[in-house]
Amino acid sequence: MEINDTVLSGIAEHLPEMLALRQRIHAHPELAYEEFATSDLVAERLEAWGYSTHRGLGGTGVVATLARGGAGRSIGLRADMDALPIHETTGLPYASKIAGKMHACGHDGHTATLLAAARHLAQHGRFNGTLNLIFQPAEEGFAGARRMMEDGLFEKFPCDAVFAFHNMPGFPVGQFGFLAGGFMASSDTVIIKVQGVGGHGAMPANTVDAVVVASYIVVALQTIVSRNVDPREMAIISVGAVHAGNAPNVIAETAEMRLTVRAFSPQVRALLRERITRLVATQAEALGATAEIDYQWDYPPLQNDPAMTDFARQVAVEHFGAGCLIPDVKPLTGSEDFAFMLEQKPGCYLTIGNGDGEGGCMVHNPGYDFNDAILPIGASYWVRLVERFLA
Ligand SMILES: [Zn+2]
Ligand SMILES: [Zn+2]
Repeated sequence: MEINDTVLSGIAEHLPEMLALRQRIHAHPELAYEEFATSDLVAERLEAWGYSTHRGLGGTGVVATLARGGAGRSIGLRADMDALPIHETTGLPYASKIAGKMHACGHDGHTATLLAAARHLAQHGRFNGTLNLIFQPAEEGFAGARRMMEDGLFEKFPCDAVFAFHNMPGFPVGQFGFLAGGFMASSDTVIIKVQGVGGHGAMPANTVDAVVVASYIVVALQTIVSRNVDPREMAIISVGAVHAGNAPNVIAETAEMRLTVRAFSPQVRALLRERITRLVATQAEALGATAEIDYQWDYPPLQNDPAMTDFARQVAVEHFGAGCLIPDVKPLTGSEDFAFMLEQKPGCYLTIGNGDGEGGCMVHNPGYDFNDAILPIGASYWVRLVERFLA
């Protein structure tokens, strides 16, 4: 691996060991809220380097703190630790040893990168204030960040600002992506259950056909994005599943629909909820059926604080040069648990390119791997960010 002069010497010195740690975590993936061995490993290392650690927030979460100097500001850096229920096909020597589980989103790399930074900061860090390292469980759809916050994360460990990064396949290794404002979408799940009256396929007048009602609802939903949302805003309503009926000569009594709903702004997100709820109820009623709606308010839109995003970008440019920036960063329609933390604290979520050649395999793909080349870059960046924020 190429180590250029932007990698801090203290990071380079321990790099082989930190890469081995990343690959060890990769080989032993653990799903949401089951990160027992991973969190043990994380806490044990941090304690050995002089951090005071706190276990149990959000179940398997770990928070490590280190304070230097007198009163100062406080910063939170977050890494996610969970893997996915995917069967790995990379064939790598350190591939997952557990069938059906895999670090297919690079959270092994995020964790190891933050550990590498933690070690350097404990040994050589020049800062005045409090450093909080947040290792969270269950980013992949199970809101581990929210669980940690419900367990008092920011009351117990006050943070003036919070930062996190995600590797980004398809972009050059080590290039940074920053975007102020709405960077990632909200992600809500809606389950709709239509209740009609079943009957004989030859006697429709005696029935309320749940298939017809569901079909009207699917078509009506298409008008929300096209007719209700400001065309300058982003919104997605996807009906991912419709389940109803079995036999050609039986009119279905019930139908179930499952939707994913996304937006970049809290206002559009609220509008979608209002319109979906109303359209479903009125369409069902107009056709003589009833509809039950379970609107699961999952991940909020991820909003980067403009001042903190400027600061985070500036730190990258100062250390790596202006060429380190991904030009013309666009918002992403995926969602991210760190959005909960950014609802309470100013901060910035950034991306680091995982490679546009061989490293371009997308996350959540069975052939994906975190690119180890970005570990020393990300770790050096975290060190500089902390030293600048807690100057
Ligand atoms: Zn993921
Ligand atoms: Zn991820």
